Formats: sequence, C-alpha cells, structure tokens
Amino acid sequence: MEEKIWLSSPHFEGTEGALLQEVLMPQGGGEQLYAQLPKFEKQLEELLGVPAIALNSGTSALHLALRLLGVEKGDEVLCPTFTFSAAVNPILYQGAKPVFIDSEQETWNMCPELLREAILDRRSKGGKLKAIMLVHNYGVPGKLDELFEVAEEFDLPVIEDAAEALGGKYDGKPLGAFGRMGILSFNLNKIITATGGGALVSENKDLLAQGLHLATQAKDGSGHYQHSTLGFNYRMSPLLAALGGAQLKMLEQRVEKRRQLFKEYQASLETVEGLTFQQEEKKACSNRWLTCLKLPNGIAPVQVLQQMAARGVELKQLWKPMHQQPVFEGFPSYLNGVSQNLFEQGLCLPSSSSLTTGQMTKVTQYLHELVG
Ligand SMILES: *Cc1c(COP(=O)(O)O)cnc(C)c1O
Repeated sequence: MEEKIWLSSPHFEGTEGALLQEVLMPQGGGEQLYAQLPKFEKQLEELLGVPAIALNSGTSALHLALRLLGVEKGDEVLCPTFTFSAAVNPILYQGAKPVFIDSEQETWNMCPELLREAILDRRSKGGKLKAIMLVHNYGVPGKLDELFEVAEEFDLPVIEDAAEALGGKYDGKPLGAFGRMGILSFNLNKIITATGGGALVSENKDLLAQGLHLATQAKDGSGHYQHSTLGFNYRMSPLLAALGGAQLKMLEQRVEKRRQLFKEYQASLETVEGLTFQQEEKKACSNRWLTCLKLPNGIAPVQVLQQMAARGVELKQLWKPMHQQPVFEGFPSYLNGVSQNLFEQGLCLPSSSSLTTGQMTKVTQYLHELVG
C-alpha cells in the first residue's frame, strides 16, 4: 500500500518527545510546568504585537470573546455563512442569533457591501446587533480595509477568527491582531499544532484579564471559593503550551512552505481552462493554510474527491454554507449565491508542510487526468 497523502497533517520535528520529558522532570514540581503558559504567551505576543492568553481550543476562545463583548440571549452577531461551523457555534452557546453574510468572489470571505446592507436591514427590523465575526477562510484574509470601515461606521466591535490564518499578514500587520479580540487555534490540522489548543488575543489588557478569570472558573480573589459570575474551564494545558512554543518557532518556515505549495499548484494547474484559485488581496501575505480552487463548470467536486480518494489522496470540498446547515436553519441570511457556488464547485488540495515533491507531482498528475 502506498502512503496516503493527507489534506493537512501535523508536522513535528521529532524533538518534541524530549522536550515534554524535560518539562515533566520532577525537580521543578508544578512551577516548571506552569511556567510554560506565560512562556508560550510571550512568544505569541512577540509574534502578533499584542498580548494573548492560551486556552484549550479556538472554539473556547471564540466563546469567551463573545461573552466578553456582552453578547447574550436575543442579541445578533453578524458572521460569514461560508466558513467552518466552529466559528458560529459559540454564538448559539450564548443564546444569541447568527446573521449570515455571503462572500465576495475574490477572497471568498465576507462581502463588505452585503455586510452593510445586512446591518441596515437588521437595525430597521429592530435587531440587537452586538458584534461582527470575521473569519480568514483557509488562511486568506478578506477585504479587511472595507470590512473594518463598515464596522467603524456602525460602531460594531470585530471578533477576528484567525484560527486558520496564523503567520499571515495584511498590510504588514499580523493576522489575529486586527479585531477588538482575535482568536487562534492549535488543533491538529492547523498550520502549527499543540495537538489541541487556542488563544484569545487583544490589545485590551483588561479584556484579556477578564478572559483569564472566566477561563479559570471565575474564582473571586478571596480566601475561600467565591464566585460571582459563571466561569469555564478553558485554560490550556501547560504541557501543550510547551509543544505550542516549540511549534511556533517553526511557523515562518511552515508559512513559506505552504505558500510555495500554492504557487506550485497554481503553476501546474493554470493550463486547465475554467479552473480558478482563491485570490489574495494585494495587501495580504497569507499563510495559504490550504490551497483551494474552483473546478471548471460541469466537473463535480464529489467525483474528483472520490476518485482521488481511491488513489490514496485526501481532498475536501469547500465549506458547505452555514445557512444551508440543518442546525442553523431559520436564521437571517444575506445571500448573493457566491458561497453556494463555492460549495458546488470547490475543493481543497493536500497542503501539508511535510508534503514531498514526489507527492505533489502525484497529486497534480492525477488532477490533470481527472479535470483536464
Ligand atoms: C479550527 C477552527 C476553529 C476552532 O478551533 P479549535 O481549536 O478546533 O476549537 C474556529 N474557527 C475556524 C475558522 C477554524 O478553522
């Protein structure tokens, strides 16, 4: 059996085991372990230029961000329909209502004009808009200048879901540092991984301190266990923080490699008529977490996916829009057909930073056989 080619595999150096062993040595006791958290957070701050707290997942970071912005039952949060469900679920955890906004054609992220339209319409209907959730789909940021302009015009805070975008920049500024609050993820298939974990990012240190309080069971600072608000157990394990720290040192190389893979796919497949790639804004330098494309009309992604799977290559269809998901049925949606078309025509290609030249050649060769 030939080795399977995965969509996005975790990429370790082989030195991580020794690192964990060192952290677990008994000499330092708990102190040595807990020192891993501030150490990892400092590394994140150096990278992003704004402080961060390490959490047990990107999803819990999003939940905290919503809670910190005061999003509660009956409130509305504007969010993309074309994204991963993890970005939307926490809105429902808070009992709030997602308002789905469709994408623009180029970067496939939230369309600024539709966002504006949606805000005006929701407000005219008495909707209690509390925040805008932006996602950089597949690591590529959207039209951030325009989107933030709309957010400012209507005085709405932005939560920036940069779970897929770590290591990328827009206008020279690191992604994750744009919103009132940003979130990161270190789960197994992201560009770097702590085998699980996330972070909440904000230049507002008070918000972060409140976030840390909520993430650690909301214990008030008295001698006994006193709680005046609802807490969570959302802190990252210090062991995973040590892993995350080691991975973070590799980030730049990982971004370079994934950008390189994108370029190679593009060069190899640009001869296929009607095939297009997810575009990057001029100001953006994304991490190209996954290379994504739209197939020529008339070729169904499912079929390509199945035939590639038979050859040991894992592909994925692009996100199925949230407004089409049974779990999110009935929420307000502002649509233009872009996300629907992406779902019907799009695929993600194997984009692991450990992908070899031989594997890449195989993938492109098979694709040429199937799509022309
Ligand atoms: C992965 C991901 C998340 C969730 O991160 P976890 O660490 O897996 O909880 C949230 N939003 C987007 C866009 C993601 O891709």
